[in-house]
Amino acid sequence: MIGKSDIVIVGGSFAGLALARALALALAHQARIILVERQPAGATLVDPRAYALSAGSKRMLETLGVWADLAPHAEPVRAIDITDSALEHAIRPVLISYDNSIAGNEPATWIVEGARLRSALLAAVGQTSGVSQFQTEVQSFAADGAGVSIALAGDRELRTRLLVAADGRHSPLRDAAGIKTVRWSHPQIGIVTTVAHERPHEGRAVQHFLPGGPFAILPLGGNRSCITWSEERNRALAILQLDDAGFLAEIEQRFGHRLGALALAGPRAHWPLEFLMARALTAPRFALAGDAARSVHPIAGQGLNLGLRDVAALTECVADAMRLGLDPGDDAALERYARWRRFDSITSAAAFEALNTLFSNDSALLRAARDAGLGVVERLPGLKRMLVSEAAGQTGEVPRLLRGEMA
Ligand SMILES: Cc1cc2nc3c(=O)[nH]c(=O)nc-3n(C[C@H](O)[C@H](O)[C@H](O)COP(=O)(O)OP(=O)(O)OC[C@H]3O[C@@H](n4cnc5c(N)ncnc54)[C@H](O)[C@@H]3O)c2cc1C
Repeated sequence: MIGKSDIVIVGGSFAGLALARALALALAHQARIILVERQPAGATLVDPRAYALSAGSKRMLETLGVWADLAPHAEPVRAIDITDSALEHAIRPVLISYDNSIAGNEPATWIVEGARLRSALLAAVGQTSGVSQFQTEVQSFAADGAGVSIALAGDRELRTRLLVAADGRHSPLRDAAGIKTVRWSHPQIGIVTTVAHERPHEGRAVQHFLPGGPFAILPLGGNRSCITWSEERNRALAILQLDDAGFLAEIEQRFGHRLGALALAGPRAHWPLEFLMARALTAPRFALAGDAARSVHPIAGQGLNLGLRDVAALTECVADAMRLGLDPGDDAALERYARWRRFDSITSAAAFEALNTLFSNDSALLRAARDAGLGVVERLPGLKRMLVSEAAGQTGEVPRLLRGEMA
């Protein structure tokens, strides 16, 4: 046995790091928290993904003392343009354009590079008393009435009262807990890279709906943008084989000429796209958070935001229970968390699936129907405001951290 604790979090990526920091602060550093991550701290800092953080996620990172580190590098999204055209069209006319702000002219979304977000979270957790970090792999666990025994690589063991799996979409712990999933593969691959452009983006994010899948242009600092591009699988594999000039030509065809000449400005990476939903969010003394709970299509850039909403709700449920002198693995606290997150998780995932199915095809009939639908949204400012507020994570029962209050 190498340690006893109140809470063990497995997975030291975005969800796990944010949860460790949030629980420690909410419980005034009185809980013993252990964070286990199998990779060395710097290993995944090369991820070229950039994240569209909602205003709610930003508020939470402010409350956790992480935003100050990110602020100089975070790019506000002032407006969003949406187009819907065939790949060979030379011009991609804007179908709908949003002013992406919520009350008080606050941007509804901020773009943050994944490597910066992770290093800001790592730095904050490193300075948090009450959190110990172990770099090792969790192999199995067993829950009993009094706690959970966790087997680590190298025949070591941890004992705790609540185990949280923030171990990503392939979550070995979710399987070990006997939680089943609903999952299917998308016939698409997600390609991500960074480009530099001649002219400034002026804070405009663009979503080109193309038959192979959505091609998103997310504004970054300087004259740079992150491309998050879903493409039909075989075509994506062929594009990924191209040399830099060929790869850039494929991007130029989709990007358009709005911002002048383009150049590659970062590595390319790709991910198979998969829908995954855990059938339950908890088991005795066990909870799922982040992609371990669900993995959604990147079409709306909401996967991490959903994970941070898990973190905010779980922190509130566990901290409220512990302040009453209850066990962190208290059944009622975990049931409250599961009830709180179930609806948002399922409805969001279903909406992103529907959007991808509706837009990622070459049917002229479907294009006419969806363009008529978008035309209605364009003409109704109230509906647009509602959609922006939804994407900002400000609707429904919002956990305290997402409102900018300590949990
Ligand atoms: C192409 C693409 C673009 C995206 N764009 C956006 C976007 O714009 N906005 C957005 O909100 N979301 C976006 N997402 C989704 C986002 O990337 C994920 O939701 C997020 O990375 C999930 O974070 P996580 O911390 O839950 O899991 P992960 O980042 O998967 O981390 C899991 C961690 O657990 C560790 N681990 C696993 N098993 C063990 C074990 N047994 N022992 C110890 N450690 C273990 C792993 O090493 C890993 O570090 C995108 C996803 C894709 C594929």
